[in-house]
Amino acid sequence: MKIPLRILIVTGKNDYLCRKIISKMGKDQTVLFHSTIFGPIHSRRLGVSLGVNLMPDDGKVCSFDCLYCEAGFNSQGRGTTGLPLREQVYSQLEEKLSEMRANGAPLDVITFSGNGEPTLHPDFPHIIESTLALRDKYYPNAKVSVLTNSTMIFKPEVAEALKKADNNILKLDSAFEETLRLLDRPNSKEFTVEKVIEALRQFEGTGIIQTMILRGSHEGKNVDNTANEEIEALIEAYKKIRPRKIMIYSLDRSTPEENLIKVEKDELMQIGRRIESATDIPVDVN
Ligand code: SF4
Repeated sequence: MKIPLRILIVTGKNDYLCRKIISKMGKDQTVLFHSTIFGPIHSRRLGVSLGVNLMPDDGKVCSFDCLYCEAGFNSQGRGTTGLPLREQVYSQLEEKLSEMRANGAPLDVITFSGNGEPTLHPDFPHIIESTLALRDKYYPNAKVSVLTNSTMIFKPEVAEALKKADNNILKLDSAFEETLRLLDRPNSKEFTVEKVIEALRQFEGTGIIQTMILRGSHEGKNVDNTANEEIEALIEAYKKIRPRKIMIYSLDRSTPEENLIKVEKDELMQIGRRIESATDIPVDVN
């Protein structure tokens, strides 16, 4: 039994193998994970990572609808399976960790990502607690990471749960309202850049801010967060938030909006160096 949806945030070579292709959008395909526990995969950003998908197996649930989402647009629907119960997450995760340990498999990180935004799960705080306990039991040196779009950090219980994770990786793609609305397409009108930057300050010194860097267009509107004023505004936002680290990256594979252009590594490195020297915060470029 799963939680009905009415109750209602990695990439790597093998990541693709763990996803089931269920939707065709344009000439290429975006893909969904088809289970609650997936991998382990080798992630560019995180190392050997065992994934936890708290969203449906056959649909997507997210409070954003990013133009670049590898799971596709929200319009594909929420699927039929509902959200996994916390007991199911626990038992499936324990089974996998126990099997991996018995086989001597390495593990660097347990990562919450998948077919949408993990913090939307109503039992997210409990699931973080039990995941930390399982980590301590089976792989005490592994980290627990959460990839989140930052839309739920206004809820104290979600923020507190994120703070317990080793790596809370929080999305901020632009410091301009117009760009963020065009690129990330938040479901709620209440969500604003100003509010989220303010709320992100609670992760000062502990959180990791992750920013997707790209160029392109959507429905005739240009989007380009490599522009000088975009980077300057991001620098000011990072200075206010003062995270432990900043991660910048660009497109890795198919996106539901086809008119997006990957920013190549050399340019990303230049942007990273500029941010690092202006903020004095370490920047990872992936
Ligand atoms: S935050 Fe954006 S990229 Fe992440 S799952 Fe939601 S729509 Fe996809």
